[in-house]
Amino acid sequence: MTTDLQIAQRRFASVNPATGETLREFECTSEPEVQAAVARAHAAQPAWSGVGASRRTAILREFQHHLHEQKSDIARLITREAGKPYVEALLTEIVVVLDAARFCIENAYRFLRQERIPHGNLAMKTKKGSIVREPYGVIGIISPWNYPFSIPATESMSALITGNAVVLKPSELTSLVALELESLLHTAGVPRDVFQVVLGDGATGAALINSGVDKLVFTGSVPTGRSIAQGAAARLLPVTLELGGKDPMLVLSDADIEVASSGAAWGAFVNAGQACLSVERCYVHRSLYEPFLQDCVRKTKQLRVGNGMHSETEVGPLIHERQLRNVELHVEDARSRGARVLTGGVRLSQLGPNFYAPTVLADVTHEMRIMREETFGPVLPVMPFDSDDEALRLANDSEYGLAASVWTRDRARGEALASRIQAGTVMVNDTVSCFGISEAPHGGVKASGLGRTHGRFGLEEMVRIKYVDSDRLPSVKKVWWYGYGETFTRQMEGFLDLQFAGALGRRLQGGLRAAGVLLGKGKIQR
Ligand code: NAD
Repeated sequence: MTTDLQIAQRRFASVNPATGETLREFECTSEPEVQAAVARAHAAQPAWSGVGASRRTAILREFQHHLHEQKSDIARLITREAGKPYVEALLTEIVVVLDAARFCIENAYRFLRQERIPHGNLAMKTKKGSIVREPYGVIGIISPWNYPFSIPATESMSALITGNAVVLKPSELTSLVALELESLLHTAGVPRDVFQVVLGDGATGAALINSGVDKLVFTGSVPTGRSIAQGAAARLLPVTLELGGKDPMLVLSDADIEVASSGAAWGAFVNAGQACLSVERCYVHRSLYEPFLQDCVRKTKQLRVGNGMHSETEVGPLIHERQLRNVELHVEDARSRGARVLTGGVRLSQLGPNFYAPTVLADVTHEMRIMREETFGPVLPVMPFDSDDEALRLANDSEYGLAASVWTRDRARGEALASRIQAGTVMVNDTVSCFGISEAPHGGVKASGLGRTHGRFGLEEMVRIKYVDSDRLPSVKKVWWYGYGETFTRQMEGFLDLQFAGALGRRLQGGLRAAGVLLGKGKIQR
C-alpha cells in the first residue's frame, strides 16, 4: 500500500537559487521505471552500435549544430537553474560541450578502428593480433548540479559515439538542464531509447546502479562516490568515479603577483567556488605573501555579486542553503582558530536566499577544516611557505588529488614541481581551464576518484577491450601442444637460451638445440 508520505517523497522541485522561485515540479522515477528504462536501452543498443561510427558521428555533428543555434536559450536555462553568470554558462558549459563534440567527431572513427598489436615472442610469430574496442552496452551516468550541462553531456557523448546506450540520472537540483540535453540529442537523431533521463535524488541513483547497467560513470562527492563503489563492488560493476577536490595553488617566489592574484580570485570564485577544480587552498612564498594578499583583497572587493541573469554579474549564488551553511561552518571554524578574514565572511541576504560574499582568509593552517575538507564555496584561504619543498609537502598533505596549479615565471621550475604533485592534472600559470581542453584527460588520484573522462582516455572508459588473435598457419599443429618427451624438453631449454641467454655463444648453442623442433624431430606425434 502506498502511503501519503511515500507519494509526497516522490515529488521534488527545481528551484532558481538566486530567487528561490520554483521553476518546475517533478516526480521521482520509481525503481521499476528505472529498470524498464534500462531494459529498453539494452534492447536498443545493438542497433545503435550496428549503425557504425560514421552515422553516429553525423548525428553528433547535428547535435553540435543544434546546440550552437540554441546556445543562448540553453545558457539562460543553466543560469536560472544553477545560478552561475550567463557568460560563465556560455564559457564553461556550452563551449566545453561544443568542443567535446568536435573532439568526438574528429576522433571516434580512428579510435574505434581495429588496432594491430605486433608482438616479439619468437614462438608466436605466426600469429596476427589485434585489439577491438567494443561498447559496454548500457552506461549509467549519475551527475552533479555544479556543471549540469557540460558534465553529463561530455560523458554521454563519449558513451554514445562508442556505440553505447545511456541512462542519465542528473542531480535532482538541475533536472531541467538534463531534459534539455535529452531533447537536443533526440532532435539530432539519437534514438529515444538510446538516450534516456531518469529523474530524482539518491534513491533513483541507487536504483540505476542496481538496474543492470553495464558500467556506471559517477560524478559527485567523495562520500557518495564511496558508497556507490561499495554497491558496485557487490555486482562487480565497473565504475568511473569523478569525485571532489581540494585543489592547491602554489605561488612560487618568482611568480608575477599581478597575474597570480587575478588567477587566484577567478580560480576560487568561478561558479561561486562550486567547481571541483576550483582553488580551495592557496600557498604563497613568504616574500610575496602580504602584497599578494593585498592584491587578492582589492580584486575580490571589486567583484560584482548578484543574479547571474544580469550581464555585469561576476559571482552568482550558491546552489542552496545547505551549501551556504557548509561554507559558513568552514569560515567560522577558521576564524575561531585564528584565521584573519580580510574581506567577505558574511551572507548577502539582501541579494537573495543563497548569496555569500567572496571571502579571503589569511593565516590559515592545516588544522582548520577550510584547508582539509572540500568547502565548495567562494572562499580563498591563503597560507605562506618558505621553500618549494615545503610548498610541495603542503600541497600533497591532503586526502584529495584532483588538480593543482603552480605559478612561476620559470616554466621549467613549474613543470619540475608539477611532476612531484599528487594530482590528476597540474596546470602551470593557469587554473580550472583544463576542463575546457577536450583532449586533456580529466580525473583524480587518491580520494578524488578512479578513471578518467574527456579525451582519448575518456573514450577508453566507455569500451571493453577484446584481443583477437588469428594464426596464419591454420594447417600446422603447434609445437607446444602435447607430445612431450626428453628430447622435446632439451629443445625447449635450447629455445629459452636462444632468446634469453646473456652470452652469444650460449644463444647460438641454444638455437642449434632448438632447431630440431622445427624439423619435427623429438616430438611424439599426437
Ligand atoms: P553528490 O554526491 O551529493 O550527488 C551527486 C549525484 O549523485 C546526484 O545526482 C545525486 O542525486 C546522486 N546520489 C546521491 N546519493 C546517491 C546514492 N546513494 N546512490 C546513487 N546516486 C546518489 O554531489 P553534488 O553535491 O551533486 O556535487 C558536488 C560534488 O561533486 C563535489 O564534491 C564536487 O567536487 C564533485 N564534482 C566532481 C567533479 C569531477 O569531475 N571530479 C565534477 C563536478 C563535481
